[in-house]
Amino acid sequence: DLEIAIKVVIVGNGAVGKSSMIQRYCKGIFTKDYKKTIGVDFLEKEIELDGEEIRLMLWDTAGQEEFDSITRAYYRGAQACVLAFSITDRASFEAIDSWKKKVEVEVGEIPMVLVQNKLDLIDEACVSEEDCELLAQRLKMELFKTSVKDNLNIDSVFEYLAETYLSH
Ligand code: GDP
Ligand code: MG
Repeated sequence: DLEIAIKVVIVGNGAVGKSSMIQRYCKGIFTKDYKKTIGVDFLEKEIELDGEEIRLMLWDTAGQEEFDSITRAYYRGAQACVLAFSITDRASFEAIDSWKKKVEVEVGEIPMVLVQNKLDLIDEACVSEEDCELLAQRLKMELFKTSVKDNLNIDSVFEYLAETYLSH
């Protein structure tokens, strides 16, 4: 049996919850002050889809997103992508277009999904539901509303990506 492995990159501004999302999905944990594990490029998660074993390799950035210095090695060979922003951070929402372009410059068009995180902080939101839906429409992307803290919709994001990848 040849196992299917998919390299997934998770991009977006700093502090939107990318590392937390990877930790939550792969290890089932959430901490308020997650410390970056230096030297670890990705975490893995095995899932079964339509009777197939799929290994997702979720690549984390080392927190260098604000310096615009994510290395090519990070993107190299990526087969699927999560574009993440936080509803409590307007700038992270506005940066989505530029993140999408960065990925496409490096690896071309790959399955992508839009994630609006920190839904548990809806009272502090500075991005409206309408804004999010218009962006998803414009980019022709599926939109997932998540809370890593409450473990809301995290599994769905990665299942959707794996399904989209397999059906291509
Ligand atoms: P990254 O820079 O995108 O990797 O973001 P981190 O994963 O380091 O998360 C930044 C901060 O946001 C941390 O304090 C997390 O605990 C917090 N965080 C991440 N996701 C959520 C969420 O869904 N809800 C809340 N309330 N906090 C979150
Ligand atoms: Mg991080």
